[in-house]
Amino acid sequence: MTLRVNGDRLRQDLADLAGIGALESGGIGRTAFSPADARAREWYWSRCVAAGLDLRLDGLGNMVAQAPHPADLPPVWTGSHIDTVPHGGAFDGALGTVAALECVRRLAETGVPLRRPVCSVVFSDEEGNYGHLLGSRGLSHGYTADQIAALTGREGDRLVDALAGWTWADGSPTRTRIPAGSVHAFVELHIEQGPKLEAAGVDIGVVTSIVGLGGAVVEFAGRADHAGTTPMSLRSDALLAASAFLIELPEVAAAVGPDSVVTCGLIQVEPGGANVVPALAAVTLDFRDPDPARLVMLERGIAGVARRIADATGVSVTWRPDEPIAPMPLAEPVRDVIRHSASELGLSHVDLPSGAGHDSQNMAHLAPTGMIFIPSKDGRSHSPAEYTDFADVERGANVLLSTVLTLATS
Ligand SMILES: [Zn+2]
Repeated sequence: MTLRVNGDRLRQDLADLAGIGALESGGIGRTAFSPADARAREWYWSRCVAAGLDLRLDGLGNMVAQAPHPADLPPVWTGSHIDTVPHGGAFDGALGTVAALECVRRLAETGVPLRRPVCSVVFSDEEGNYGHLLGSRGLSHGYTADQIAALTGREGDRLVDALAGWTWADGSPTRTRIPAGSVHAFVELHIEQGPKLEAAGVDIGVVTSIVGLGGAVVEFAGRADHAGTTPMSLRSDALLAASAFLIELPEVAAAVGPDSVVTCGLIQVEPGGANVVPALAAVTLDFRDPDPARLVMLERGIAGVARRIADATGVSVTWRPDEPIAPMPLAEPVRDVIRHSASELGLSHVDLPSGAGHDSQNMAHLAPTGMIFIPSKDGRSHSPAEYTDFADVERGANVLLSTVLTLATS
């Protein structure tokens, strides 16, 4: 008979964690290294102790829990993050955290023989208040003292100050890197955070790759003039040029591929007066694609439109790109185990890319890595509206358990 998670315990854990950092206005606020994050970690620690697990911390607060095991072989890791965006939901990160804990606990209490240990991991600051996927990047790449000193949160506070006196870290934040191969395999269960599984009526998503991420500030520069006395034909309006540019972006993304997306969530206008023709419009862009070649095509397409619009409207344009984050394909052998586990449990599954970044993309530098998605109601996430039926949660957790068990016995 296939091993299953304890559904009642999993449901209770998810509910208990959702109560930590719950906001009166709805949603959950568990920013990394905040008091709510500390309470969530204390709760997690107590659940580990109750299950007889040993817990280790590193200098960035990554937490690794493990049941005692005689073999000195690289362990299988599973886990996710416990922090949220400022008004986040109860499933992003929390799901993979409690499901991982349940898997390790279930394997320990049933005494099923494992060839290698299984660890439940919580990564620090996945939501990147201080750094993009901070904790997992500390494990895969590490940080220098200068890099750590330069990291600040959205309130302008410094990471080093947040870490000073933070009980849930141990050791130096510059010594968190672990060697490739020291983990046998990594698997993360996560909500899809998009609408595809729900729309297709499919139980399980097998993630093929994690999206690549590009960013740029596109600065259109025209000339400030009087809003009343300058005829329309004589203006050099930077914001009008930026507007014409933005309107063309959906077409650029559509021409590259169905998974290409481009977003402008921030425009800065100078001098910024209601009665002044805008001299400068700085458009901040986020663009993504799971395929490396298409991500490059997307960036070229966007930059090309910016130049064409600038020429046509008589303003100048400067393209200031961010360092891109490359798409990360996930390991086919782990994907295969996930597919097999889903099929054995009688669940439907489909391959799909992840449009969001995850700690798995850093873990993939260290070990063969896979991700399991379950449906998100209406595709909503990073919002109090984030929701997944418990039946789906339990299905995902059972696929995770079966996957981890296969990896730990191989
Ligand atoms: Zn997440």
